[in-house]
Amino acid sequence: MTTENLKIIKLEVKDVRFPTSLEAHGSDAMHTSPDYSCAYVILKTGKGTEGHGLTFTCGRGTEIVVKAIHSLSHLVVGQVAFEIFKDFAGFWRSITSETQMRWLGPEKGVIHLAAGAIINALWDLWAKLLNKPLWRLLVDMDPEQLVSTIDFRYITDVITKEEAIQILKNQQSKKEERIAKLTAKGYPAYTTQVGWLGYSNDTILELCQKYLELGFTAFKVKVGENLQNDINRLKLVRNAIGYDKQLMVDANQVWDVEQAIEWVKKLSEFKLHWIEEPTSPDDILGHAAISKALRPLGIGVATGEVCSNRVMFKQFLQADAMQFCQIDAARLGGVNEILSVYLMAHKLGVKVCPHAGGVGLCEMVQHLQMWDYVSVSGTMKGRVIEYVDQQHEHFLHPTFVKDACYQVPKAAGYSVTFLPETIEKYEYPSGSEWERMFSQGLFHDPRKVLKRMSSA
Ligand SMILES: [Mg+2]
Repeated sequence: MTTENLKIIKLEVKDVRFPTSLEAHGSDAMHTSPDYSCAYVILKTGKGTEGHGLTFTCGRGTEIVVKAIHSLSHLVVGQVAFEIFKDFAGFWRSITSETQMRWLGPEKGVIHLAAGAIINALWDLWAKLLNKPLWRLLVDMDPEQLVSTIDFRYITDVITKEEAIQILKNQQSKKEERIAKLTAKGYPAYTTQVGWLGYSNDTILELCQKYLELGFTAFKVKVGENLQNDINRLKLVRNAIGYDKQLMVDANQVWDVEQAIEWVKKLSEFKLHWIEEPTSPDDILGHAAISKALRPLGIGVATGEVCSNRVMFKQFLQADAMQFCQIDAARLGGVNEILSVYLMAHKLGVKVCPHAGGVGLCEMVQHLQMWDYVSVSGTMKGRVIEYVDQQHEHFLHPTFVKDACYQVPKAAGYSVTFLPETIEKYEYPSGSEWERMFSQGLFHDPRKVLKRMSSA
């Protein structure tokens, strides 16, 4: 393999959207009609191997993320892949702290989503070049090499490079045993499918039955729009699944702090395991207050899917403001930053239960959580990965859940390579399915709106 062959010669970005709002899939108290979407990055090397990565979005605005990815692309095109991997922390800093574009964040919002999509594509490329699934690439790295991919700026007051290496070294001797267990059984999942806010009671009951039959023992329901409705829905779900199963609720950021405490107290008779995103995702002290108030009721606070970066996570963990740390594979700046959050959570004794669903999030987080089990925490106790049964059919190597457990991914890469026909159908706005839906009047064609505006 020559260096020239491993040069990244091109970066393409696709705006890919799925019309999930038509059937209320994904609806919650804050996002009432999302069209699950992503900005999808394709890195092409001279060798022919491609790296695929994405960041998740809710539809409108994906074009802004696509633009941001284009603006960052000069940092990666022309680079030799293994040179990046040799100093991945340095590369990560170059892309997240680009001297002019960092003003757009720094390390948050659209520009960080864009960085995440590119970084995820690089990890996919690395794993594919070594012909390993990503979790295996992470597990097989020696502690020093893995830690060399992390930028420790801003987090050394909680964890240093040396401590991170030591955490990984402590787990090395049990690795093979854990890999065998993971391969045999997989990693436990919970389902959010039963409780989208826009679903009817009949649909909820049907789905509870379906997931019970599939062996699920943990369920999550959306709440926060109307207290009486929440009580009715939770009654319905508890009657269907019984009180021996785990039940979580998710408010998707709708409440004020005091309101969250009062509301959740009124739902506590339903034996809730956690309340997810009770208030603004930036309100660390607010989450700490909610955690403190709900602790006597045995209800933990879960958050993280919209937590911008490792610094925010650090403070949530330091302030005892999250009892369940929900990393998101496409919100943070890709794998490098997520690894640092896992290591901080481990050091501070907080369980990581990744956020998933969306587009490709289940596909990605399974790799990270499996690495955590083998190399960091050494346990699955009290940990679950979110599972939403949507949009998997679009991937070449989709997530496979059996007996309510994610099965270990076997194909090389990070599992988010789209099927070619998915891009042909769902690229926005020119894909064949979008053209059909525009012509049927199901959605407005944005190109027509632009045309009208320019001729006005
Ligand atoms: Mg959530």
